[in-house]
Amino acid sequence: MLHIKQPLLNIRKKITAIATANNRLGSDVNLLAVSKTQPPSCIREAYQAGQTAFGENHLQEARDKQQVLNDLDISWHFIGSIQSNKTRKIAEHFQWVHSVDRLQVAQRLSQQRPNHLPPLNICLQINIDNEATKSGIPLNELSSLANMVNTLPQLRLRGLMIIPAKRDNPSDQRAIFNQAAEIFRQLKLTNPALRLDTLSMGMSDDMEAAIAAGSTIVRVGRAIFGPRDIVGKPQPLR
Ligand SMILES: *Cc1c(COP(=O)(O)O)cnc(C)c1O
Repeated sequence: MLHIKQPLLNIRKKITAIATANNRLGSDVNLLAVSKTQPPSCIREAYQAGQTAFGENHLQEARDKQQVLNDLDISWHFIGSIQSNKTRKIAEHFQWVHSVDRLQVAQRLSQQRPNHLPPLNICLQINIDNEATKSGIPLNELSSLANMVNTLPQLRLRGLMIIPAKRDNPSDQRAIFNQAAEIFRQLKLTNPALRLDTLSMGMSDDMEAAIAAGSTIVRVGRAIFGPRDIVGKPQPLR
């Protein structure tokens, strides 16, 4: 079975090429392989091809895979929406959480992060389109929330995560990512004490625009693993 390695290598090449074309270093753009709905065997194959960071959006599905793959040194990133009653397991079993969108969740993650582990890496998910239906922090609350999260002892605030509404036109994609990059730049400029280094944006269909705008982590699923058979529904483990 060798159906993950080649697409993975192609995506890495593509990231380097896009970065270079935009006067950036390929090494400044990290690849998060989004393995939601994919079986552990595919994660293992990607790992054997050199991929160590994987993103999951459902806690139980992720826990099942982590148990099967506990012989691998994987960096697990939680990228899904977070219910308060799930924070303990997330704090215990992940290295990163990209989708923090309220203070209460951040406080619980900090309290519940085991002391023997390094601080949990956090991105704040901002609501770039200001759509009432979408999760994410309203922009007018971002700076104060970032400063509060930054004081929590068992968290390390790294930056922002953005999931814009879908746009097919590359120039529209570019515009919204540039807007996100500007928000990130302003946040850093007005809060130098925060030491932010991460802008998590770009997926299979818009990673080119995201990297051009300054993304430091692209979250790529389908372009590596192929289509998800049933969107959002975990496949049986194999
Ligand atoms: C599913 C998902 C991705 C990956 O999307 P693809 O289109 O498969 O690349 C990235 N980020 C988040 C938050 C996701 O839920």
